[in-house]
Amino acid sequence: MTNPLDLFSPDYHAAAARIGAHLTRHAIQENTEEPPLTMDVATICSARICSAGAGSATPRQTVIVSSGVHGVEGFFGSAIQLGWLSRMASGAALPDGLAVVLVHAVNPFGFAHVRRANEDNVDLNRNFLESPHAYAGAPDGYAALDPLLNPASPPARLEPFRLKALWYIRRLGMPALKSAVAGGQYQFPRGLFFGGTAESASTRVVKRQLPDWVRDASSVIHIDLHSGLGAFARCRLLLQEQADAPAVAWYRQTFGADGVEPAAGSRDTAYDASGTLGGWAQSRVGASRYRFVTAEFGTHPIVRVLGALRAENRAHHFGHPRTRAFDRAKAQLLECFCPRSPLWRKAVITQGLSLIERAIAARAR
Ligand SMILES: [Zn+2]
Repeated sequence: MTNPLDLFSPDYHAAAARIGAHLTRHAIQENTEEPPLTMDVATICSARICSAGAGSATPRQTVIVSSGVHGVEGFFGSAIQLGWLSRMASGAALPDGLAVVLVHAVNPFGFAHVRRANEDNVDLNRNFLESPHAYAGAPDGYAALDPLLNPASPPARLEPFRLKALWYIRRLGMPALKSAVAGGQYQFPRGLFFGGTAESASTRVVKRQLPDWVRDASSVIHIDLHSGLGAFARCRLLLQEQADAPAVAWYRQTFGADGVEPAAGSRDTAYDASGTLGGWAQSRVGASRYRFVTAEFGTHPIVRVLGALRAENRAHHFGHPRTRAFDRAKAQLLECFCPRSPLWRKAVITQGLSLIERAIAARAR
């Protein structure tokens, strides 16, 4: 097997082409100054489906692995996808009737520019709303935190942000703070966790392509790879389903009981958010046919991660590229979503590959 650390400096297209994956590119942003940004999708299917000709036979089961919904998180998500492609290249076979769809960078702008948000400063995982009227408002508490989270100035080196954030955590408690900050807001366009004013280009592509990825498969398991929340190098699987939903037992059985966290009321990693990809996909296809996990890999302490998000957001809106403050903000953000630690990188590859293998071996029921 390839050295896991090599997977972080990837050539995704070559790796996908090597195993005969069907590759499609969906334009997200055409810009004369830059190469066009695309969401790239690789589809790999078991021998019998593929030999029937692309698109002519329908898989019974589909596993979707997506990464880079939060652009900068695409670095580690891409490494996991490459790890799996390299396993396939060394001779692994898919069970009959199965297709695997790898969505490489849902937010290619954020991936290319080392941002969590997209070209419109939108957090895509808050952008999957059904009604145009839903793009409004903010959770209780966000407006009060706006001056702390989103100062209208470039990042400064020494600031008491950490102390202030800790003070808020003590005063409000972590669950309330997480919901206020990260639940999704539609009122502060330059703020963190902004959900947008309408569907973003990536959201439109995912909504348009999903029927093609799912086709008539009777069961779909979707793993959406994320990082930045939770204990260092630890993976938690955040569910859309609430703790009392019968499907929770299936997730525990499939992925192991330890890391599974049902939605709402969870004390650990999860928080309620609006406009999520998983919520939208399940409501569109049906939750019993479409199993969805947000695989969240922890990195650094939450106040550090929030501080890095805040500094990068200020640098993006108010700073100047090619300054030390700008570069420092980008480097810190990258460290918070794809730490340089070889220990972290090896651990996330091992766990990520295990998740994909478990999804492939499972049958959603
Ligand atoms: Zn994320």
